[in-house]
Amino acid sequence: MRWQGQQLGVGDDNALPGMEQLDGLVRSVTTPEFARVTFHEVAARSALNHVPGSSAMPFDWTINPYRGCTHACVYCFARGTHEYLDLDAGADFDSQIVVKVNVEEVLRRELARSSWGREPVALGTNTDPYQRAEGRYRLMPGIATALAESGTPFSILTKGTLLRRDLPLLAELKKQVPISLALSIAVYDDELQQAIEPGTPTAQARLDTVRAAADLGFGVQVFLMPILPHLTDSSEALDSALARVKAAGAARVVHGALHLRPGVKPWFMRWLARDHPELLGLYRGLYPGASTNAPQAYRTLLADRIRPLIRAHGLGGRSDGDPWRRPTAAAPSATATASRVVTTSRGRASAARSIQKTPEPARLF
Ligand code: SF4
Repeated sequence: MRWQGQQLGVGDDNALPGMEQLDGLVRSVTTPEFARVTFHEVAARSALNHVPGSSAMPFDWTINPYRGCTHACVYCFARGTHEYLDLDAGADFDSQIVVKVNVEEVLRRELARSSWGREPVALGTNTDPYQRAEGRYRLMPGIATALAESGTPFSILTKGTLLRRDLPLLAELKKQVPISLALSIAVYDDELQQAIEPGTPTAQARLDTVRAAADLGFGVQVFLMPILPHLTDSSEALDSALARVKAAGAARVVHGALHLRPGVKPWFMRWLARDHPELLGLYRGLYPGASTNAPQAYRTLLADRIRPLIRAHGLGGRSDGDPWRRPTAAAPSATATASRVVTTSRGRASAARSIQKTPEPARLF
């Protein structure tokens, strides 16, 4: 592994955020509860990752306590990042998990800096913070508490039902800062879900988590994405999925077609050739060569199909390609002071670009 044996103070420009400099305090752990998984515990130098200004991401800061993900989604766009560690984007991504065991301590130091602007922080944008490893390491309660105590709003996106463990804590912290929760639930057919997201809880278990969060007063979003061409994109499948999302108490859905970044495309196509060889030609047509996105015509067709269904089910919704608006101010709370204003440069630019005229309540997704 590229980072093993690095000298203290020696940086690696290709390392993942927070792992540029390692001091040799790396230990690798296997345990019978996690068959075929190795945890690489690292002492990270940073917790808050600044998203480059050129990024299309709608947030400026992220925290990723884990690298790699045992949820093992075949289509996972983060797979390629494992190659920076000289690990492969396939099975290694699913089983070689880097754990920033000191993330809370480092985060508290960063949040205490006078320069910290309390801009919204996104968790779950790269790898899943509530993957199974979180049951062993319990990093999220400390992260969430540190963020809330500093007056920093945050969002969590996950496929992990382990989120339920922390819902009472998050409901308490929500009194201090805005917290957005979202469950990623893309596949509602159990057989297909087990094939393409083999490490994830079932869709129903995730919907039950939506319900539990909604019952605690969260306006939960469901990320109904990626929608898989010819597998989950029929009107019937979308209608049935949205009915279940609505019944679970979700407030909104975010939808989008499958993206296939270069790091994941070969892995995905290998899976498709094995499980759905009849679709291989269709997918090669939709995602030819190095193309990442499905053609605009397909995405328009998909949006035209799903939007009326979202309205019919009484849900709010948007596409992952819609103009993005970020909160410009944290909701006042008992502990947040007037100086704790949430504002970001990209958020202001995005808001200015937004064509929507009716303001909606601040949200982080
Ligand atoms: S849960 Fe998210 S981060 Fe984990 S493998 Fe699936 S898509 Fe990737």
